[in-house]
Amino acid sequence: MAYCDTHVERVLIDQKTLTDRVGQLGAEISRDYQETNLFVVGVLKGAMIFLADLTRCIDLPLSFDFVAVSSYGAGTSSSGAVRILKDLDVSVEGRHVLLVEDIVDSGLTLSYLRGLLLGRKPASLRVCTLLDKPSRRRVPVHLDYRGFEIPDAFVVGYGLDYNEQYRHLPYIAVLRPEVYRS
Ligand code: 5GP
Repeated sequence: MAYCDTHVERVLIDQKTLTDRVGQLGAEISRDYQETNLFVVGVLKGAMIFLADLTRCIDLPLSFDFVAVSSYGAGTSSSGAVRILKDLDVSVEGRHVLLVEDIVDSGLTLSYLRGLLLGRKPASLRVCTLLDKPSRRRVPVHLDYRGFEIPDAFVVGYGLDYNEQYRHLPYIAVLRPEVYRS
């Protein structure tokens, strides 16, 4: 049995569906911003693969940087506390910022990051998330671009991890329950 088959219970979003949707999001962002020079902020490590694919579908001048925040640690549920582990290397003041997230769950991370970035006086700030789990929301957040709404399940792949594993899977999947027990 292949490595992935022994760990993955089911594929929620396959590779082709991801590619198509990321392309649509890139086209939408390109249309909305017209000639604007965009500053894309990715949230490490989960949004890394999404950002890499998304930016290559955006037909605009742009640059990007990353922030890293603490969220789930080694478990699968949020403690609610958000902390900056790595800040941006440059100022966002006066720039058109697109914040790129892998997944919005409780909304706490996004809400914290929005507040942080807005305090730095960007010209504009929009949010693009690949995945959205609205049933788990604890604070309201506005999403300008959203790839997929998903049900309340812990997912991995395409940048998302469990204990730092599975980020490299080219699809979004739910793991077998025995993975969490081992
Ligand atoms: P929130 O602050 O919205 O509760 O959670 C945001 C962060 O929690 C995400 O950026 C991600 O790192 C993590 N997270 C939330 N749901 C999932 C999930 O289903 N799978 C994985 N791997 N991470 C998740």
